[in-house]
Amino acid sequence: PSGSEPATKIVINLERLQQLPADKVGPLARYAAAIQSQRGDYNGKVLSIRAEDLRSLAIIYDKSPGELTDQLIDWGVLPPEARPAQ
Ligand code: C2E
Ligand code: C2E
Ligand code: C2E
Repeated sequence: PSGSEPATKIVINLERLQQLPADKVGPLARYAAAIQSQRGDYNGKVLSIRAEDLRSLAIIYDKSPGELTDQLIDWGVLPPEARPAQ
């Protein structure tokens, strides 16, 4: 299956991200850290990123944007409400 619809509002739970093993979330964690660095935004518990970034991350994870949305919800990095109603 190609997964659910991709998330449209992407608000990453940074505390949850830190708890997950690096072999799973390494690329996402580095991407989020790069955005925090570019913004100078280090103090948040969450990080809002661009919908376009989900498409870039999906390529990195070799998934469709919808599949990656499901994966991020499974990991607890995105809240279940991130999945648009079908
Ligand atoms: P919201 O979008 O629901 O965000 C709620 C809170 O999540 C924010 O409260 C902030 O504490 C945190 N948050 C969300 N994204 C980020 C992020 O990328 N970095 C960090 N450090 N924290 C984040 P805050 O700042 O008091 O904002 C309250 C509301 O004001 C936001 O609710 C949103 O509706 C609006 N707002 C704040 N900044 C922006 C912005 O840059 N663009 C737009 N369109 N709205 C904003
Ligand atoms: P940029 O793309 O040239 O954006 C310049 C500034 O425009 C940003 O400075 C921010 O103040 C504002 N801006 C652009 N798009 C948005 C938006 O959708 N919402 C809000 N609230 N503001 C926006 P800032 O935040 O210091 O970011 C500096 C640079 O870091 C950006 O330059 C961009 O190259 C990069 N960057 C920051 N956040 C992201 C992100 O979530 N994804 C990506 N791909 N790059 C980002
Ligand atoms: P937001 O600030 O509420 O912006 C919502 C949407 O408005 C963005 O969705 C984008 O489609 C459009 N938008 C807002 N500002 C700009 C802009 O300066 N240039 C362009 N081309 N479009 C703009 P998007 O891209 O999916 O971003 C989602 C959220 O990610 C933004 O919500 C904001 O919280 C965060 N974000 C994205 N880029 C940046 C950035 O460069 N700096 C900061 N501080 N936050 C960003």
